[in-house]
Amino acid sequence: MTSKKRSRRYGQMAKSIIQTDKTCFICDTTTNLEKHHIFFGTANRKISDKHGFTVWLCHDHHTGSNISAHRNREVDLALKRVCQTVYELDHSRDDFMKLIGRNYLEVEDEIHNG
Ligand SMILES: [Zn+2]
Ligand SMILES: [Zn+2]
Repeated sequence: MTSKKRSRRYGQMAKSIIQTDKTCFICDTTTNLEKHHIFFGTANRKISDKHGFTVWLCHDHHTGSNISAHRNREVDLALKRVCQTVYELDHSRDDFMKLIGRNYLEVEDEIHNG
């Protein structure tokens, strides 16, 4: 494994593909916003930055409540589905699968495994 220096890429993150305004994606507030990586975890976080799989969420909808993206599976999955849907407007399902390794659309039965 090689570890790339972060400095060169810092500040060059792609814009969110699913959001243009800096408001909470869920409730539209403009206060207490935090950036959420829709596909989080070590590898996916980088992919999310690179491809703009990010949204602004207020603290309550990010991590601060039981209806937040990090604590509520429904919210988490809803964001992932929106993101995949938007990505696939311009890309194929194969492209998405190569990035994320998983299809979040049409997967009602697989939700519990991961
Ligand atoms: Zn909110
Ligand atoms: Zn987050």
